[in-house]
Amino acid sequence: MAALLKVQKMNLSRNDIIRLLDDEERQNDLFKKADETRRKYVGDEVHLRGLIEFSNICRNNCLYCGIRKGNKNAVRYRMTPEELIETARRAAGMGFKTIVMQSGEDMYYTSERMCRIIEEIKKFDVAVTLSIGERSYQEYKAFREAGADRYLMRIETTDKDLYHKLDPNMSWQNRYECLLMIKELGYELGSGIMVGLPEQTLDSIAGDLLFLRDIGVDMAGIGPFIPHPDTPLAQAKGGALYLALRTMAIMRLLLPDINIPATTAMESLHPRGRIMALRCGANVVMPNVTEGEYRKFYELYPGKICVNDTPVHCRSCIGLKIMSIGRKIGTGYGSHKKQFRRENA
Ligand code: SAH
Repeated sequence: MAALLKVQKMNLSRNDIIRLLDDEERQNDLFKKADETRRKYVGDEVHLRGLIEFSNICRNNCLYCGIRKGNKNAVRYRMTPEELIETARRAAGMGFKTIVMQSGEDMYYTSERMCRIIEEIKKFDVAVTLSIGERSYQEYKAFREAGADRYLMRIETTDKDLYHKLDPNMSWQNRYECLLMIKELGYELGSGIMVGLPEQTLDSIAGDLLFLRDIGVDMAGIGPFIPHPDTPLAQAKGGALYLALRTMAIMRLLLPDINIPATTAMESLHPRGRIMALRCGANVVMPNVTEGEYRKFYELYPGKICVNDTPVHCRSCIGLKIMSIGRKIGTGYGSHKKQFRRENA
């Protein structure tokens, strides 16, 4: 293990990665190495992104997801464009320098509507991240021209058979091509995966990590899969927190200078999940700034944290936690500052 970790950054082979993923006993060495790498390349600042979950209406039927179209128990909501802009205005007023707008694939939000919202929110002097799923090249281009800076869309898994089982009527190839378009249009690209999916192997997670490295993501979100009771995967195992942390730590070694969030799903499995993540490679947190009842209805998985809290509460709570481990809150936009020249990147 020690020898493995001395291997030059970005030079881990698929077999090295599998060994690290599998090594629960010595995971603390991996976490320590990832923490040192994080500190060396992106420093002690933790960048906060204000996350607005603006609609849970979705045309897709992903087997793992609580807001899948087929879940008749989900209480559906959609913010109006005005509500969304107002929520962003308040988040900017609280000091957030990035606003992330996330939703199901809700086609009410046409290109025109989204563009107007982006233009309004850009007036608040924030970076704008979109996470609204698969769209056409023309739409991605229009959003970019309207001012969107970043786009976040997980590939979920690079095991194509598994992807097609879990995301019926969707195409892995199309999702991949969307990521390429997003990159070509000059967005900062965020992608990522879920860890602990049924039938997912360590070999396939290693493949995911190499994929994220080779596509040259600016941000990689890695979260544990948590089974939702109202989905076909209700009985699946899930909850692989430590495997997800190991995956995230290896991501940091492979791409030392990118942004890596401590994901909400980690905190949903452990009360200190995000702090643990910040200590083994992560440098970003995305506090929820969605207001009122909507938070609880954006239920991708059960046990979601902070569903009864307010944006102000979440901002101060996470701020205190971050400072308690000797880290600082980032004051800038927290863009990916590239420190390497990479092939394909
Ligand atoms: N429609 C957008 C946003 C999807 S929701 C898009 O397609 O990108 C955001 C992420 O939540 C998903 O990409 C998935 O990785 C994660 N997610 C969904 N269901 C989950 C579950 N049951 N457990 C853990 N993460 C889940």
